[in-house]
Amino acid sequence: MRDPRSEELYSRSKALTPGGVSSPVRAFSPNPLFIDGGCGSHIKDVDGNDYVDLCMAYGPLIAGHACPEVIDAARERLSKGTVYGAPSEPELALIETIAKQMPCCDMVRLACSGTEATMHAIRLARGYTGRNGIVKINGGFHGAHDAVLIAAGSGSAQGLPGSAGVPADAVKNTYAVEYNDAAMLENLLDGNEDIAAIIMEPVLGNVGVVPPKKGYLEEVRKITKAHDVLLIFDEVITGFRLSEGGAQKMLRVTPDLTTMGKIIGGGFPAGAFGGRKDIMENVAPAGKVYAAGTFAGNPVSAAAGLALLKYMHGRYDALNKATADLVASMRDSLADSGVKGCINSVGSMFSIGVGAESISNGTEANGVDRTLFAKLFAHMLDNKVYLPPSALEVEFMSTAHTADDARIVAEAFDSFMRGCKA
Ligand SMILES: *Cc1c(COP(=O)(O)O)cnc(C)c1O
Repeated sequence: MRDPRSEELYSRSKALTPGGVSSPVRAFSPNPLFIDGGCGSHIKDVDGNDYVDLCMAYGPLIAGHACPEVIDAARERLSKGTVYGAPSEPELALIETIAKQMPCCDMVRLACSGTEATMHAIRLARGYTGRNGIVKINGGFHGAHDAVLIAAGSGSAQGLPGSAGVPADAVKNTYAVEYNDAAMLENLLDGNEDIAAIIMEPVLGNVGVVPPKKGYLEEVRKITKAHDVLLIFDEVITGFRLSEGGAQKMLRVTPDLTTMGKIIGGGFPAGAFGGRKDIMENVAPAGKVYAAGTFAGNPVSAAAGLALLKYMHGRYDALNKATADLVASMRDSLADSGVKGCINSVGSMFSIGVGAESISNGTEANGVDRTLFAKLFAHMLDNKVYLPPSALEVEFMSTAHTADDARIVAEAFDSFMRGCKA
């Protein structure tokens, strides 16, 4: 038995917390691994098994686990206390850095999570425009609050609750359109005067990675402007991941508002939203749109986030190149096997879409072969590679991943694909 300690902890955990985990995607069968520690690109479970980590906490750890520069910055702040309920310098420094680096951010407000950031940004868009409707992308994810939890694939019709406990009234003003389909968005906006904003990940990152088709985001920008509808880029994953100025800088499309999280906390809880000054000035106490949080802008997350953003300066090209090389090798293995599938990748993100010829939107992403992915996941684990356990999650590379790590991943993947050849 490889992980008796994890198994025991899981059985205790299951009895006291729903599904034995603190967030649903962490559960997998027969038992999730309890992690004892992470160092660089590796994690070690409580039974002493060591893995190359490609889950990387779902995105925050772009410089790997326990990056010394980040840990030092956090430790230094810790000795001065962790939260004051009053402004602090690290928080201002983080705000200044975000405002400088993210093209759309004239002003920034900090929060504690990506969920909070999108919740506040949506309220702000509604408050600013005086309209109720919001549009999201089918397969787009914006956290765990009611307004964005609508059933997948509900087309451009009015949203249906995507979770028990979400009242129909909470999503009756939420609409969904397909990614990479600007005409569908335009049709919706043509027929509805009550839309405040569209919130979208500029590069989808929660149905695997899905890059925008050429011209799509530019088209969305044009359409939203023409309809006087706010464009919100949810860059909780892509912000400071795809470039120092997020997807918006890399793809040169500037939204009105943007939401951030994950990387900006340097591995501690954090979130932020920012954008045009005339919109942001409507946030309380400057304006009438309420947004608040006890831990918002706490100095430890801010100091760690700041240290991480600083550390990443000048490191993106090498990281993206290392990812592209690994992806190229994995694509070869996939092609040689003859198994239907695709590997999508942008920057340091990639996803393995076994069973789907190509994936350009949320509907196509749903065509992945989950059973085959579960086998792949187990095989990779046997070969010392920890993937995110769900077929629709993203593999994240970090600057801590070495050529050796990439070789371990590529060989494990290749041996799986060879086994599929039959
Ligand atoms: C993770 C994520 C969120 C939610 O962030 P939390 O910090 O988990 O609340 C929102 N939007 C996107 C695009 C995300 O990937």
